Amino acid sequence: MDLGVEHVEQRVATGPLPAQEEIDDLVARALTHATPHGEGAVADYIPVLARADPALFGVCVVDVDGHAHAVGDTQAAFSVQSISKAFVYALVREHLGHDVVADRVGVNNTGLPFNSVMALELNGGHPLNPMVNAGALATTALVPGASADEQWATIQAGLSAFAGRPLEVDDEVYRSEAATNQRNRAIARLLESYGRVELDPLAVVDVYTRQCALSVTAHDLAVMGATLADGGVNPVTGEQVVAADVCRDTLAVMATNGLYERSGEWLLEIGLPGKSGVSGGIVTIAPGKAGIGVYSPRLDPAGNSVRGQRATAYLSRALGLNIFASDAHVPTRGSHR
Ligand code: GLN
Repeated sequence: MDLGVEHVEQRVATGPLPAQEEIDDLVARALTHATPHGEGAVADYIPVLARADPALFGVCVVDVDGHAHAVGDTQAAFSVQSISKAFVYALVREHLGHDVVADRVGVNNTGLPFNSVMALELNGGHPLNPMVNAGALATTALVPGASADEQWATIQAGLSAFAGRPLEVDDEVYRSEAATNQRNRAIARLLESYGRVELDPLAVVDVYTRQCALSVTAHDLAVMGATLADGGVNPVTGEQVVAADVCRDTLAVMATNGLYERSGEWLLEIGLPGKSGVSGGIVTIAPGKAGIGVYSPRLDPAGNSVRGQRATAYLSRALGLNIFASDAHVPTRGSHR
């Protein structure tokens, strides 16, 4: 995957973020870096998504002090889609604990598209991880609540707490996906047949479809990501949304599968947990530092925003975020070298 950042100086992830003005400058440069890449296609398998303006492009960084650095269309609304999977996973993980969720939903990469039925069949009906549809449906089924309405209320309140403002469903997107989501209904039925979903599978799909239709902006994604970067405390509202160990687990599952079958390439190039959605958003987390939200609707064949990946790659390098990057340590007095 060539994201065109070979020329960007690689800073290492240890140490603080650059000064505020420098972050502003680098966010603007990330947008300029990625803007020429008008390739890719807007998703159209959910009919209403095909109407998105492909020219929209916004990049936002929110640091763990709650400072926002935004350039471009960071207030443009779009449906959160698959990015919701990461945050619903966090809510369920908070409620049920590490072991139960790891057992029920799995953590390994499928190597297959997000809506793969084969991934489920090849794994004896056990979903592989919560970042692809089978595992995400199994996760939504585990959301606390005595009814689908109560589960939905938990999700809407939880994702709103991550964003620090009330998030609403885009009804047009919800209706468009609800009318065309036969494949997700089939996956839910298959989960039911394997005893992996105990609720009415169609009710689970309905709640999942609503969570995907929640309307967000690139700025919201950056705040949501910054909350996962900040031990679960929303750095803008100060609310503890989930526990720090829940963030740790959430970032691990995002790292292994946040960009579907391109997750390995993403980790190699960007070195951070991220989650993309088919409407063109990507949220990326630099633990202890910041969240990055990007939005640009044109996608690569795996369903990941083309410009969004480029802008994030630029920022990972230029802001020193790649968690795998290190410089040789300068030996200090008393060192064993
Ligand atoms: N709601 C979409 C689906 O389930 C989300 C997919 C995505 O963003 N990759 O098909």
